[in-house]
Amino acid sequence: MADGATGKSPGIDRVGPYTWDQFLERVRQFHSYPAPGVLVGGIMVAMALEQIPSGVLFNAICETPSCLPDSVQLLTPCTVGNGWLRVVNLGKYAVSLYDKYEGNGVRVHLDPAKLEGWNEIRAWYLKLRIKREQDSARLQEEIRQAGRSIYTLRPVQVKQGERARSSKGAIAICRSCGEAYPVKDGTACLGCQGLAPYEASDAPPG
Ligand code: ZN
Repeated sequence: MADGATGKSPGIDRVGPYTWDQFLERVRQFHSYPAPGVLVGGIMVAMALEQIPSGVLFNAICETPSCLPDSVQLLTPCTVGNGWLRVVNLGKYAVSLYDKYEGNGVRVHLDPAKLEGWNEIRAWYLKLRIKREQDSARLQEEIRQAGRSIYTLRPVQVKQGERARSSKGAIAICRSCGEAYPVKDGTACLGCQGLAPYEASDAPPG
């Protein structure tokens, strides 16, 4: 029971098509453990989904790469791989769903102004406590009890240039490594320009 939060929210018993317990299990399967961020994200995505008229083809934007993209991938057809989900890393816990052609949609964020009385959620969200001092079971229960009361939803219009995954354009073969890469990246692939995350190999390419 959240301190001082009793009665503030009816809580929730469903996330999208799932009961709360089914959702916890789905998150465990997909994300390896029921991370608070994926649970919170699931509620956010479910709230946004309800605002999208049926039959509208929608895309998603997550404003952080942490946890939230998995909530979108669990509850919508949008994935990073199919290009319908983009991560625009603003470091913020917010997600938008929008009409992929018109760009109009809704944005939901976890609102710090609505966390009074939800002490576990607040401590986790604002990193007021080190991780090992967190009480996961209590945090999970607060997220369920707070339900939809801690989020803010508003309409948004996504900029034209931000709506679709940009085309890679023409492809060339890198003269340095022999692999295919987008011509727009320059005279060599980005890996050979020093952006590869690997230690340099002693072996010559090929
Ligand atoms: Zn290369």
